[in-house]
Amino acid sequence: MRHGMVMGPDSRGALPGTRPSVRILVVGGGYVGMYTALRLQRKLRQRLRSGEAEIVVVTPEPYMTYQPFLPEAAAGSISPRHVVVPLRRVLKHCKIVIGEAERVDHAKRTATVTTLATGEDGTGALEIPYDEIVLAPGSVSRTLPVPGLAEFGIGFKTVEEAIGLRNHVIEQMDIASATRDPAVRDAALTFVFVGGGYAGVEALAELEDMARYTSRYYHNIKPSDLRWILVEATGRILPEVGEAMGGYAVRELRGRNIDVRLDTRLDSCEGRIAVLSDGSRFPTRTLVWTAGVKPAPVLASTDLPLTDRGRLRCTAMLSVDGVEHAWAAGDAAAVPDLTSSEPGTETAPNAQHAVRQAKVLADNIVATLAGRPAEDYRHSYAGSVASLGLHKGVAHVYGRKLKGYPAWLMHRVYHLSRVPTFNRKARVLAEWTLAGLFKREIVSLGSLEHPRAEFALAARGDVQPGPVGDAPPKDERPPDTSD
Ligand SMILES: Cc1cc2nc3c(=O)[nH]c(=O)nc-3n(C[C@H](O)[C@H](O)[C@H](O)COP(=O)(O)OP(=O)(O)OC[C@H]3O[C@@H](n4cnc5c(N)ncnc54)[C@H](O)[C@@H]3O)c2cc1C
Repeated sequence: MRHGMVMGPDSRGALPGTRPSVRILVVGGGYVGMYTALRLQRKLRQRLRSGEAEIVVVTPEPYMTYQPFLPEAAAGSISPRHVVVPLRRVLKHCKIVIGEAERVDHAKRTATVTTLATGEDGTGALEIPYDEIVLAPGSVSRTLPVPGLAEFGIGFKTVEEAIGLRNHVIEQMDIASATRDPAVRDAALTFVFVGGGYAGVEALAELEDMARYTSRYYHNIKPSDLRWILVEATGRILPEVGEAMGGYAVRELRGRNIDVRLDTRLDSCEGRIAVLSDGSRFPTRTLVWTAGVKPAPVLASTDLPLTDRGRLRCTAMLSVDGVEHAWAAGDAAAVPDLTSSEPGTETAPNAQHAVRQAKVLADNIVATLAGRPAEDYRHSYAGSVASLGLHKGVAHVYGRKLKGYPAWLMHRVYHLSRVPTFNRKARVLAEWTLAGLFKREIVSLGSLEHPRAEFALAARGDVQPGPVGDAPPKDERPPDTSD
């Protein structure tokens, strides 16, 4: 371990100040990143105070996103600010660097990080030296080379995407209500979701519920005018809740007139026409892609071992295989599932494993620093809960199967107990309570995404683009919705 290194003024890009005896660098501020840093700051409190240790968290956003709440945020049941946790507030004893790790040279124990300031001050990327690294960059949407997908697809992994989709759906209803062209109306009221995991099913179910409710405020849109299609390549949806409950979810959705197409793939969506492998074609202005995830791209720019699927090859102790002082967990890590009877099984990429792995990972770093042995991660999957819209759900937890209202209630109780910080729990509970007393919000605030557009128009395009809140160039805007 290197000691007390002082960063001179010309040590380009490195974090200023005296180097502590142990710097732990956490890449990613999601489930694993936040929970690992939280536990480390508690367990290493004395060393952090004395300056002997330092925890640096590199993350592109200053918040952790509680992803299971994204469908409810899209439906308007929870406001966007309450599905995220401010990292600077919860990680008070860590240094937060808002930026992205571009490369990790573990042989040299250095990460190359670009920040918002990198481009502005022209000094180049930060080179952050470390003693221990925790790689927790999670995953990104896994896309396929489907023609038209890159141009028209919408993802559902971030709070921005969830709120953007909500605004987009309501905007389509406004377009459908105003147009005199039946083809435009049909396309605006057709919503195609690809991928039947919990992200896709919950997003579709919550938005369908919201749109059906919202339609009562339109003089010329009936719920039956809205067309919702779920496309799933395998023969079942929601594999997380088991076969029986997945079958129930299909029946529930079909009972609501949602067109669930199993064993079907999206072949193309060029020209905003979704063409499915069963030969059907749907002109649509909304194509949501939630067909799986792949590990974050930064992993390919490290000198650490990867599996053929691009996850970091890890031991059951959550250290990177065959390497010292490198740790990983969550969606980015291939961790052996010690509870599986089938050798070679890896733990699934989900929040349940991410949170539990973060705890073991932090404890193992603390143990290693103290010269104690690390422990294995072992957790058998407890099952899952999924919401299918307001008062509807499915659950399969510890062998117990629930459906309908009890499952939905369990979904809410479970996630309320899991969402980090008392502050967020209280705010989410307050929102749910108020939503029970008042009517749903049905407003679309899509223009919030382009706050300068109005002013730029007023100034007839004379305004030079500034750094914040610009109207984006036309080709970077979401699909045009005005034809
Ligand atoms: C809509 C939705 C609903 C879900 N619902 C459930 C559910 O009900 N139950 C369940 O168990 N799981 C659910 N999941 C899955 C669960 O959210 C993930 O498995 C979990 O977030 C994985 O945690 P993680 O820390 O590995 O990644 P994340 O939580 O995604 O965190 C990764 C972080 O790393 C950051 N990052 C990425 N690249 C870099 C880089 N180069 N440098 C620095 N930082 C970087 C990212 O911005 C992000 O902040 C859901 C996922 C989605 C999208």
